[in-house]
Amino acid sequence: MPPPREVAVIGAGAAGTMAAIFAAGAGARTLLLERTRDGGRKILISGGGRCNILPARLDERRFVTDSSVHTLRNILRAWPLAEQVTFFERELGLPLVEERETEKLFPASHRARDVRDGLLALARRRGAAFMPETTVTGLRPEGGRWVIERDGAAALLADAVVVATGGLSVPTTGSDGRGLAILRGLGHAVHPTYPALTPLTASPAPFAALAGVSLPVTIVARNGERTARASGGFLFTHRGYSGPAVLDVSHVAVRSRMEHGAARLTVRWTSLDAAGWDAALRPEGTRTVGGALRRRLPDRLADALAAEAGVAPDRTLAQLRREERRRLIAMLCEGELPWTGDEGYRKAEVTGGGVSLAEIDPRTMESRRCPGLFLCGEVLDAFGPIGGYNFLWAWVTGRAAGVAAAAGGRD
Ligand SMILES: Cc1cc2nc3c(=O)[nH]c(=O)nc-3n(C[C@H](O)[C@H](O)[C@H](O)COP(=O)(O)OP(=O)(O)OC[C@H]3O[C@@H](n4cnc5c(N)ncnc54)[C@H](O)[C@@H]3O)c2cc1C
Repeated sequence: MPPPREVAVIGAGAAGTMAAIFAAGAGARTLLLERTRDGGRKILISGGGRCNILPARLDERRFVTDSSVHTLRNILRAWPLAEQVTFFERELGLPLVEERETEKLFPASHRARDVRDGLLALARRRGAAFMPETTVTGLRPEGGRWVIERDGAAALLADAVVVATGGLSVPTTGSDGRGLAILRGLGHAVHPTYPALTPLTASPAPFAALAGVSLPVTIVARNGERTARASGGFLFTHRGYSGPAVLDVSHVAVRSRMEHGAARLTVRWTSLDAAGWDAALRPEGTRTVGGALRRRLPDRLADALAAEAGVAPDRTLAQLRREERRRLIAMLCEGELPWTGDEGYRKAEVTGGGVSLAEIDPRTMESRRCPGLFLCGEVLDAFGPIGGYNFLWAWVTGRAAGVAAAAGGRD
């Protein structure tokens, strides 16, 4: 019997822990190296501490990548959503429940800790060894194996290495971009990285008085060829705007700044379109503009939008001139949202960009440049919207990398 393959997984986040579970499960001697004391810190803070573990339904078109969309889909289809749900419920013993309005799946316990602890425990049960407080500083191939350099400790050797070091978002969770630098140093093409799913700011903040107001909207961000549209929760903050809809289009705004432009953000504040508002603003007794708007919008926002359109809220609908009505309807259906910046990696839920998907074999996640090196999770050039999509990406790519690293990839 040949000795089992030795697989080192770098990073005990969502993708790395999944890779370790599957590498160890396939019989490899698996070592999970993690920089922090405990690992999985993003899982702990995810979904407001409840961990939106998966989407209830998957729309592949909602992923964003600068690489081939075809490759992205092939990767996603390798582990169907229904099988992932079964894995969590049966293998991990974590029943999932759907939040109907958002189509998100959560552990029935609503405790992110159960997900993090459950994954690490399963990795251990399948035989993986966990090595916390270990920062990997470099990787190099030597004699058909991999040398793993560590900060303040002797280098280790492995037959295969899975890099699952994440991106640059929320660095306090352990991911600081070092993994990306190592992969770039090994010759991989890395698409420019940027904060994604991050709140936007406006300075001066024209709507600061509305901080705390939230409502469902449809928002569109446009910059040249790039467009993103999202419907969902919108939240006014002291510094600007947040909520799932804003986060979902933020990448277009962030990238426009990187390219010295400024994306245009427009908001439809209610479900009514122009014809619907035209009807809703028809004169009706002594009803005022403010009164008509407040029927469908939070009071403070109704007054602020009327003011933005240059219409006093106490005017009656009968007094509205044609041009005022036109301005008001334009503001309600396609109101321009002033913004000047973003909250960056400090608050970004994910990192956009990363190692090009062209650099890996989509079946095995093995690097096309470095045999024996496998990549998964946020280091790769893909992210999804709010709703469990980013964990789904971590689970799918982590599993594929773990299985293939244990099997020996191409050979
Ligand atoms: C506030 C917040 C809420 C979120 N909520 C959700 C949600 O509800 N649903 C969802 O789908 N997604 C959510 N996400 C996104 C999701 O957390 C990430 O997409 C996912 O964690 C990425 O997994 P990963 O394993 O690739 O990277 P990470 O989870 O970032 O893990 C990388 C790991 O590698 C370790 N590491 C890094 N460099 C080294 C090194 N050199 N040596 C050793 N170890 C290293 C890090 O310490 C870390 O443990 C959220 C993100 C944030 C920030």
